[in-house]
Amino acid sequence: MSSWSDFRREQILVGGRWTSADNGGTLDVIDPASGEIIGTVPDAGAAETRRAIDAAAAAFVGFSQTTAAARARILRDLSTALRDNQDALAELLTREQGKPLAEARAEIETGAAYIQWFAEEARRTYGDTIPSPWADRRIMVTKSPVGVVGAITPWNFPSSMLARKIGPALASGCTVVAKPASQTPFSALAWGVLAEQVGVPAGVINILTGSAHAIGGELTSNLLVRKITFTGSTDVGKLLLKQAAETVKKVSMELGGNAPFLVFDDADLERAVAGAIAAKFRNAGQTCVCTNRLYVQAGIHDRFLEAFAAATRNIVVGSGLERGTTLGPLIDEAAVAKVEAFLSDALAKGASIITGGRRHSTGGRFYEATVLANANSTMHFARDEIFGPIAPVFKFETEDEAVRLANDTQYGLAAYFYTQDLGRIFRVSERLQYGLVGVNEGLITTEVAPFGGLKESGVGKEGSKYGLDDYLDVKYVCVGGLGL
Ligand code: NAP
Repeated sequence: MSSWSDFRREQILVGGRWTSADNGGTLDVIDPASGEIIGTVPDAGAAETRRAIDAAAAAFVGFSQTTAAARARILRDLSTALRDNQDALAELLTREQGKPLAEARAEIETGAAYIQWFAEEARRTYGDTIPSPWADRRIMVTKSPVGVVGAITPWNFPSSMLARKIGPALASGCTVVAKPASQTPFSALAWGVLAEQVGVPAGVINILTGSAHAIGGELTSNLLVRKITFTGSTDVGKLLLKQAAETVKKVSMELGGNAPFLVFDDADLERAVAGAIAAKFRNAGQTCVCTNRLYVQAGIHDRFLEAFAAATRNIVVGSGLERGTTLGPLIDEAAVAKVEAFLSDALAKGASIITGGRRHSTGGRFYEATVLANANSTMHFARDEIFGPIAPVFKFETEDEAVRLANDTQYGLAAYFYTQDLGRIFRVSERLQYGLVGVNEGLITTEVAPFGGLKESGVGKEGSKYGLDDYLDVKYVCVGGLGL
């Protein structure tokens, strides 16, 4: 059986070779639960990135010519390898990211499911034939891989966010240069170890760690890179969009969210509470689809608040490695400070603490699961992502008001609502300006459905039958002179 340290690779992967940074520099990787250094990774820059891009471009020549069946086989083997090493990979993930082991195991399974999905989709990149307006010509539409893909990923899902990019890239015949978040690089480098184990050709997957500015700058400006796929904050996404515009690259952007969670008077209370707990506190509130604002209708408000606060008090804060923990630490001190700033802003504007509301007695980066009442739209979290375990509850009166408040944000990633009225289910889901809508469900991500935001939450879709489109170029071929 493998151990987490088997996957802790302290080098970058360029063209099939594990190496250090050119200047020998390293970055520390810290366990957010203990504050201890668990290893180092190379502090690479533009030169290493150029070499990785060159390696990916060289590998593309052969890899893009392989059959879909061969690529499907590689991806299937990769998903099996993830599942075979699920415990070790989950422990590595928890050690660098902090989430409870059960969530880390679920993340590895999610990644395996995405890879398996794209193994299946690899064989379905169908084209078209189109009835020709000319008697002597025929029209074909084919799909071909875009080329070298630059993939930049965040720290909150350090393994599965890369699965969503490696899966469609390899399925379509693209090669990849990946740059994970500096706080959680090991889960990404582990993809390199797995890729070697299952025989992914050298240069098809390259993984760099180091300066975001230098690596991102090279990835977005290098002519050999034909696509940038990014998951992370809206601010960095906007910057990468601007940079990628110079060389007119294809882009996919999975950016920030500000998910509303609406509870109507006719909701199933128990179900709404369970959904709110899952949608708010998973990964300590640090997911892009986490509930940021709970809007509860006046008739059910007090009962919901009481039941939700009671369920929140059952959350167990602690190290992700400890049995029974359901809320791990926040990623760093800045994240804790941000949560504190959101809280003091809300308290100054009239919010009241129902439960939690301070750093956890464990100290360090641990924060209590917190429920606030009397939230209003002047408070910071009405606009901005909390990315922490604070659940602000707003009261509303009418359906129109709830939809208006839910849509009153520049974000449009995920929204949730609870009602048992069939008409309302259609009315509200059609009016919500969000890419993902959970009706009577708080966790809806699956590899078979399209994941992606509207407005400033992003461009493009990951997963599902739509997930390959961003990695494929559509080509129209007109065959004439047929003498018909
Ligand atoms: P972030 O600060 O935007 O960082 C994301 C990645 O971008 C990291 O690898 C980071 O590298 C890199 N980066 C930062 N500055 C860069 C630059 N100038 N050029 C190129 N790369 C750069 O986001 P985060 O704090 O890691 O993640 C949290 C955010 O991601 C939240 O807003 C969340 O909503 C969003 N997110 C969205 C989705 C989705 O699917 N829509 C999923 C998960 C997370 P360093 O770590 O080296 O700085």
